[in-house]
Amino acid sequence: MIDPVVQPPSLPELTPEEMRRYSRHLLLPQVGLEGQRRLKAASVVIVGVGGLGSAIAMYLAAAGVGRIGLVDDDVVDESNLQRQVIHGQSTLGELKVISARQRMLDINPYITVDVYPTRLTSNNAMEILRPYDIIVDGTDNIPTRYLLNDAAVLLGKPYVYGSIYRFEGQVSVFYAKEGPCYRCLFPEPPPPHLVPTCGQGGVIGVLPGTIGTLQATEVIKLILGIGQPLIGRLLLYDALDMSFDIVRVRKNPKCPVCGERPTITTLQDYDAFCGLPSAEARAEEARWEIGPRELAQWLAEERPVRVIDIREPHELAISRIPAAENVPYNRLLASYESWDRETPIVLVCRTGNRSAQAARVLREAGFQHVWNLRGGINAWAREVDPSQPEY
Ligand SMILES: [Zn+2]
Repeated sequence: MIDPVVQPPSLPELTPEEMRRYSRHLLLPQVGLEGQRRLKAASVVIVGVGGLGSAIAMYLAAAGVGRIGLVDDDVVDESNLQRQVIHGQSTLGELKVISARQRMLDINPYITVDVYPTRLTSNNAMEILRPYDIIVDGTDNIPTRYLLNDAAVLLGKPYVYGSIYRFEGQVSVFYAKEGPCYRCLFPEPPPPHLVPTCGQGGVIGVLPGTIGTLQATEVIKLILGIGQPLIGRLLLYDALDMSFDIVRVRKNPKCPVCGERPTITTLQDYDAFCGLPSAEARAEEARWEIGPRELAQWLAEERPVRVIDIREPHELAISRIPAAENVPYNRLLASYESWDRETPIVLVCRTGNRSAQAARVLREAGFQHVWNLRGGINAWAREVDPSQPEY
């Protein structure tokens, strides 16, 4: 057990309405009147209001966490609604932070919700995160994890981590005062070409609900100082097996941010650290993009070009370019060494992100003419072949 994270000089009183609302908490000896006042005094910032953020934000709002900050620059899209249940049909196209705040205040009008419709970066992170007691990760992307971890260590705050992929998830609490940090567990990021995101690999819609709810549970325990938080432990969940495992995580005395002699004392360039291309490199890559109409023209002219669709076979059942070969991404990584490096290649995926990553791999291997289909097969469906669905 650790001390409650929130220890204000005096706890706020509850109104009679709040007493009625939180009755089931007040009945619990581990919460009670003092715990509920502690929740009211607490502030939590949630970075990312997508799938994980939906569950985290709604449950923390309902639990009566007094101040909740939301950071996200994205808008609600139809493809979000399969799992991002804080949003709905009526808020399509709205900023996620605005859509989420509306739902949270409908659940509980006695709390305050601050919104930051911006992307969290090394430049704004300290200013945005500093006023809050606990930092929660709803983003599920690797550069942001290192950013949140380092900011949390530098600010001396707990960082509640969650990640999801397909049918599996992870949860932990990184709190350098009491245990290891994210860098103690993962000193180096994985190479970028081996990191699929939910937008690339898919995710079962209930999974962020499960993992986000576990993160919200850890936040509440930290605020109240009850139970055993997941400090120094990583929880692994597999929805297909319906199994939960816990592995121990040790603090690394040589950790560059939370170790005995830290070398990281300010925030870094996390995109560069994770091997993502710089703005200049991306501008150079844009010269090697081809639009769907231009590709249709090339094919009509029967130019000597290999069109390679790197999606999984089950995705080609949804939509495809008739002339394209199918070499799924992992098979491409295993086989490109033997390909002819002179033949022009156009790479295709769903939206053009994963194919851009594949193009980087091929260029680094000395391929001379590698184009990326801008906007992927979805752009092809919009601009060239409307008989194909977007997904
Ligand atoms: Zn560390």
